[in-house]
Amino acid sequence: MSENSTFDQIGDLLRRHQSFVILSHVRPDGDAIGSQIALGFALEAVGKSVRLINEDGLPDNLAFMAGSDRIETPPADPVDCEVVIALDTATKPRLGDAALHAASAGKVWINIDHHVSNPRYGDFNYIDSTSPATGQILYELITALDLPCPAETRDAIYVAVSTDTGSFQYPSTTAKTYEMAAELIKRGLDVGKINELIYDNHPFRRVELMRALLNTLERSADGRVAWWQMLDQTRVDLELRPEDSEGLIDIVRAIRGVQVAVFFEELPDGKIRVSMRSKDRRVDVCKIGQEFGGGGHALAAGIRMKGPLEEAKALVLAAIDRSVKAANF
Ligand code: AMP
Ligand code: MN
Ligand code: MN
Repeated sequence: MSENSTFDQIGDLLRRHQSFVILSHVRPDGDAIGSQIALGFALEAVGKSVRLINEDGLPDNLAFMAGSDRIETPPADPVDCEVVIALDTATKPRLGDAALHAASAGKVWINIDHHVSNPRYGDFNYIDSTSPATGQILYELITALDLPCPAETRDAIYVAVSTDTGSFQYPSTTAKTYEMAAELIKRGLDVGKINELIYDNHPFRRVELMRALLNTLERSADGRVAWWQMLDQTRVDLELRPEDSEGLIDIVRAIRGVQVAVFFEELPDGKIRVSMRSKDRRVDVCKIGQEFGGGGHALAAGIRMKGPLEEAKALVLAAIDRSVKAANF
């Protein structure tokens, strides 16, 4: 299905069915977990039965979120459910094999996302690539359908949107985003407290990781591309968790003159995770990611590719170099 479904069509499905499994992507971020909690609690408030499943479970940095104890790793057997809702997930495989198996009894698939590269793998799709976060789409859906917005939903939408916009800073942030944040505060959100829990609450090992990464920082000769890398040994030495590196790429992105920031991470299985940020749509990192089977957004995208690290780096940096040259800054 290439067209977006309407909110009314999605509302109709939500009304007609009783049991839902809500999924989000592997290595979940604030928008993934926040979206699951936001929609899950809104549906429960109208009497639906809901399971919130994520391949990798709840990351430690989001354990402060009200309702986060409802995020489960996939049970071994398929969950009895009518509808599966995938949130914030650019491709079906990014939901994870075990999560896909757990959701395999679902008859109807709804896919709600903001990734431009999303191939619309649901029976019903709502992909809005102009939205800065899936959480913002869900706020629009919940208000349009007049669904309840319990405290868990309210706070989760804020976490989803704040984390995906780099605290309401990225160019994807719109007037609607700020209006929505104002409405959430009017609905009782404690903005100081929630920001403290999101941003001023990092484990010490994350700062040690920052120190290790800074030692690997490199720049292209013209300073337009900057990158750093993490060996799997660093994960072992510092006893890191996957979420510890979340958002650190913004340090590289914030360097004056840098148009593209890249983070290369060696994973325990030998694959390389690449995280890219661009400051200018002329260098579309989603397109660069798609050259290697990844994707995301024009200004923020990722890849999971074959190692070893040095080969992956050479390939990706060459593709970025071509794109930067073509942009002709
Ligand atoms: P990250 O750099 O991991 O924060 O990801 C940046 C954006 O790209 C997020 O919106 C991700 O969901 C998306 N993304 C990351 N890795 C991939 C991938 N392998 N395939 C598709 N989208 C991805
Ligand atoms: Mn996400
Ligand atoms: Mn997102």
